[in-house]
Amino acid sequence: MAVQQNKVSKSRRNNRRAHDALVAGNPNECTNCGELKRPHHVCASCGHYDDREVVAMADEVELDEDAA
Ligand SMILES: [Zn+2]
Repeated sequence: MAVQQNKVSKSRRNNRRAHDALVAGNPNECTNCGELKRPHHVCASCGHYDDREVVAMADEVELDEDAA
């Protein structure tokens, strides 16, 4: 088992964790529908990428009541 050579002080530990905060994403607007989408990803709401539809969107999604 690895044993640490020196105790890490609260200050040093907290200084290390000072850079651990999560940062929000940087969404772009979809050029087709205007919805916010992740950069370099297909739009989740309309299935477009680079001004053309690459994922066909289902008109109606049937939800099975018993599945939940
Ligand atoms: Zn879109």
